[in-house]
Amino acid sequence: MVTITRRRLIAAAGFTLAAPAVLRHGLARAASDPFTLGVASGDPTPDGFVAWTRLAPDPLAPDGGGGLRDPVEVDFEIATDEAMRRIVRRGRTRADVTFAHSVHLEVEGLEPNRPYWYRFSALDAQSPIGRARTAPARNARLDRLRFSFASCAHWELGYFSAYRHMAEEDPDLVLFLGDYIYEFSYAAAERRVRTHDRPQNTVDLIGYRNRYALHRTDPDLQKLHATAPCLMTWDDHEVENDYAAGFAQVAAVSPEDFLKRRAGAYQAFYEHMPLRRRSMPRGPDMTIFDRYRFGDLAEFTVLDGRQYRSEQACPTAGGSRRMRVVGEACANRTDPARTMLGAEQEAWLHDGFRKAGAKWNIIAQNVLVAPLLQRGPGGILGNGTDGWDGYSATRDRMLNAMAESRLANPVFLGGDMHSFWATEIRARPDTPNLAVEFVGSSVTADGPASAFADAQTLNPHIRYVEGAHRGYVSVDVTPGRMETRLRAISDRRDPKAGVSTLKHFAVEDGGLRLHDA
Ligand code: FE
Ligand code: CA
Repeated sequence: MVTITRRRLIAAAGFTLAAPAVLRHGLARAASDPFTLGVASGDPTPDGFVAWTRLAPDPLAPDGGGGLRDPVEVDFEIATDEAMRRIVRRGRTRADVTFAHSVHLEVEGLEPNRPYWYRFSALDAQSPIGRARTAPARNARLDRLRFSFASCAHWELGYFSAYRHMAEEDPDLVLFLGDYIYEFSYAAAERRVRTHDRPQNTVDLIGYRNRYALHRTDPDLQKLHATAPCLMTWDDHEVENDYAAGFAQVAAVSPEDFLKRRAGAYQAFYEHMPLRRRSMPRGPDMTIFDRYRFGDLAEFTVLDGRQYRSEQACPTAGGSRRMRVVGEACANRTDPARTMLGAEQEAWLHDGFRKAGAKWNIIAQNVLVAPLLQRGPGGILGNGTDGWDGYSATRDRMLNAMAESRLANPVFLGGDMHSFWATEIRARPDTPNLAVEFVGSSVTADGPASAFADAQTLNPHIRYVEGAHRGYVSVDVTPGRMETRLRAISDRRDPKAGVSTLKHFAVEDGGLRLHDA
């Protein structure tokens, strides 16, 4: 029997991360510390993970170079203990100028299902120590997996207490489900608790790069990345509000121009995330959808819901493609020729349903999956154009494929709504449940203007909605049951905000329905 060993967050690493650079390396070296952005790990496999850092002694340098101009040799160490005494791998890699001196080290040959610690050295300095953990062997019995997920972290609208509390829960895995940054301010100056690196809309590689760097200077986010490996997808604000593939939110911007912007945005995402070389961007294209297996217990399918979408349904006469609520008049919304995932990703997804073998099959993606009938401007009753409702034919095909494959315990996770949701998904109101769904609130971004007060009346399959709190979601999976806690932080404007559980759901193995835990 394989059981995940609980480990306390290493006090030493916690201190190092929380302490300012001057304490870590001494006053004389503070100005040249290249590890201002911390460390991160991702994509755990049974024999390894990706260890990440980016050298940036001047992380917000106006030229986007982080204060460096030449390639730098970087030494790495992987250890089986938190004090880094029992080193099992060491070596040297190179941080190149092209990808802003980021390091994406693909560690291999390790043992399954155990923690490892890692550290980098370069330019006479040492990085903080990060902790990762390998996945269990593919079909090994796993009795428990604890993970949490978050989305929508607007730097200016609050502190990242949600990330700090996620780290303190000591999860095995963390998922970022989109809007990890915001490309724009979206808030009046008096509402900002801190300001972006530059006030303008971010539109190019340097801008996006420095926006990610700014986020990674945050001690709470650094602590979270140093605590557990992560998986991630993006939503719209990693590039631009409500974009779809090559289509900007306004038709006045040509796809050709928009793809140039997307290329810069995607490259900066790659540079700052613990992704493998196979995700390295090529021009405006970058592959991030993938599957991740944790023994016999869970498989995560991570989708890319933005890069391959069809153009938004029914833009306004003025050429706005921004999300809006449309009624029957917009037949385009349900057109089966339109796609949310693109043909290749959709075929891969359905194929994965057929081959799935884990007890719980978790589909992590960026937006609400359940249909949401809602009132739009002027009282019109309809559906939104930006989420799965805007691409409902792809959703129908996905749910059909899921049912035909008899996929075990399907669970959708999402973000984007800036509110907590729990839903039971079915093909029609009178047919059996096909999946359950949890959507997490925002880390800091504004809650919905409408409180979705009539959402449950209009949509009986929606079991819970709560928009007043910011926070994240913690999930505890065992073979018999999945427990989900919706976690609310006390105040996004308070850097020391507390946390509490708003709601605690359970889903039993084979149950396909939500109940109170
Ligand atoms: Fe958001
Ligand atoms: Ca979004």
